[in-house]
Amino acid sequence: MASPDIPIIETRAVSRYFSTGRGSPGRGRATLKAVDGVSLAIRRGETLALVGETGSGKTTFGRLLLGLYKPTSGDILYQGSSVLDSRSAAARAVRRNIQGVFQDPYSSLNPAMTVGQAIGEVLKVHQIADRSERPKLVAELLETVGLSPAQAARRPRAFSGGERQRIGIARALAARPDVVIADEPLSALDVSIQAQVLNLLIALQEQRGLTYLFVTHDLDVAKHISQRTAVLYLGRVVEYAPTSEIFAEPLHPYTRALVEAAPRLTAQRKAIKPALTGDIPNAIERPPGCHFHPRCPLVMPICREVEPQLLRLSDSKSVACHLHDPDRSPLAKQ
Ligand code: SF4
Repeated sequence: MASPDIPIIETRAVSRYFSTGRGSPGRGRATLKAVDGVSLAIRRGETLALVGETGSGKTTFGRLLLGLYKPTSGDILYQGSSVLDSRSAAARAVRRNIQGVFQDPYSSLNPAMTVGQAIGEVLKVHQIADRSERPKLVAELLETVGLSPAQAARRPRAFSGGERQRIGIARALAARPDVVIADEPLSALDVSIQAQVLNLLIALQEQRGLTYLFVTHDLDVAKHISQRTAVLYLGRVVEYAPTSEIFAEPLHPYTRALVEAAPRLTAQRKAIKPALTGDIPNAIERPPGCHFHPRCPLVMPICREVEPQLLRLSDSKSVACHLHDPDRSPLAKQ
């Protein structure tokens, strides 16, 4: 058993770049820095929310942890051991111990298979039970996520969106993971169903001691489920703090805009565009200096030239903004 002080998952300056043909005219191929030097630690049993707009890199980060992408640079550790050598014990362990729940569970379910077969397949792949034991475990998993064992014989198209997401959760649990990467698991669901699925995920975490990385564009969801939140903008962490502090006193102007725009988790809520001017810039040609400067209401001349580094303000709080750098901020010199 690993020391409880060691994060269950840790990334060290991890980056994932993609080469793309969509560069400026005449400049040939370009590099999209989807994730750029992200260092985060997730403690056993907690939920870390990873928030940001579409294009911030949060899905790519989740896929790195799931092993679906290899990092361009940096390291990923599971219980203190690097998983980048695919032959290592840690790399083998993460294939079963880290599982994903995705936005569109339908796309990961084979329409030709019954739900029982789809869940049983995971048990088989990870050698969790003999063939004869699988139907009983499938039935238990369906009950765990609030479905009837009798539904094992039905195919995915017979289920509603919320039920399919429950099946997606049952499939993830079938591997008996420690860590679940939940990538926008609510955003394809009707608002009336979102709270049910969120409450199911919270209950499963308590029952099974799961650790979650919860990827979401919705800060109100992050507030309900997470203990800490990391805010991502164009592949970089701009703020990292306990979730209660993110809401009580957001430090980065981008976080503040997201918090002000966060809708409430009620049946009446509607999508509200963040209170930001302009759209998130193209990740291929990120603005120089602070990547947020074209949209920042507090921009200073230095912001256009010098990229702020993630400054550790306390054991639990970090921010990447010149306003909070005592060597650069005009606020600090007053
Ligand atoms: Fe705004 Fe400057 Fe801070 Fe960037 S560094 S968020 S532009 S104040």
